Amino acid sequence: MSAGPESPLGTLVNAPRTAARRPFGCDPVPDDLDDRVFDVCVIGSGAAGAITAAACAAAGLDVAVLERGPHPGAASFDELVELSEPAYARDAKGCWSLTGYPWTTCNVGGGTVFYGAAAFRYRRVDFAAGGHFGDGDLPVDWPYDYAALAPYYAEVESLVGVSGDAAADPTHPDPSSALPMPPVETSPGGARLLKAAAELALHAFPTPLAIASQGYRGRSGCVADTPCMETACPHGAKGVAEPPCVPTPGAVGNAIARITGARVHQLPMTPARVWEAMQA
Ligand SMILES: Cc1cc2nc3c(=O)[nH]c(=O)nc-3n(C[C@H](O)[C@H](O)[C@H](O)COP(=O)(O)OP(=O)(O)OC[C@H]3O[C@@H](n4cnc5c(N)ncnc54)[C@H](O)[C@@H]3O)c2cc1C
Repeated sequence: MSAGPESPLGTLVNAPRTAARRPFGCDPVPDDLDDRVFDVCVIGSGAAGAITAAACAAAGLDVAVLERGPHPGAASFDELVELSEPAYARDAKGCWSLTGYPWTTCNVGGGTVFYGAAAFRYRRVDFAAGGHFGDGDLPVDWPYDYAALAPYYAEVESLVGVSGDAAADPTHPDPSSALPMPPVETSPGGARLLKAAAELALHAFPTPLAIASQGYRGRSGCVADTPCMETACPHGAKGVAEPPCVPTPGAVGNAIARITGARVHQLPMTPARVWEAMQA
């Protein structure tokens, strides 16, 4: 993959190209990589990366996506968590170390392949929580408010296909906003919770889920025969950062080159403000 002076991105180096060095489930490195100049380099093909790459490609930009993991294929959640970097966690003595549960997996589609797909919008107060809780170690206020983000929530809810009933949720920041699909069918466990909540005079409402409750843009509706958490949906009802929710690289012509098994470990900035994404 080239960049150099024509590109603001710099050069991708040290790509492990031989089959023997490619981890399981990774694509071959595209032959034309050395000849291509990209406008944008996205690191990671998970929730944020896949959508960013698709938006850039739709805007006419050439995009390289560097994904450290493989296609998940038949690999289980536990196998893929093993490949993921642990998160920083604080031990009983208050020391931080890389021992925490990563809360994601490193593969094409990132954590969305195995997530539970609960798709709540932040509440208005979440954007300025510092005034309620204090800042602690890090400032918690966001640099924008709910109103600024609302149109993007609507766009993503449409893209990933969210089912639910905003009007039934008394804490929803914008209860008049319609979700693309009605709620998924109540499970037997959910029905018990609903009954118990009613007996306690509590107001229960369906969790907004990025799970198709009916056929949606080429996706099957949920048939509720598999757990969602930690399982890739065998029917494609879950809204993941992969096709058909987010276009596959091929679906936007040649605009997105996704290189799997490509772990970015450094982003050095040269004096000329050229970034180099370097692979291990
Ligand atoms: C079991 C489980 C249940 C969850 N349930 C929910 C839920 O119900 N609702 C909800 O909103 N969220 C849920 N989440 C969390 C959700 O999946 C993540 O918040 C979301 O995927 C984060 O998106 P992201 O783009 O930041 O990162 P990710 O989706 O994790 O994507 C990051 C991508 O970047 C790649 N990458 C990382 N470092 C590098 C590098 N150095 N070089 C190249 N590539 C790199 C990774 O391999 C990965 O593909 C759940 C997660 C898990 C694991």
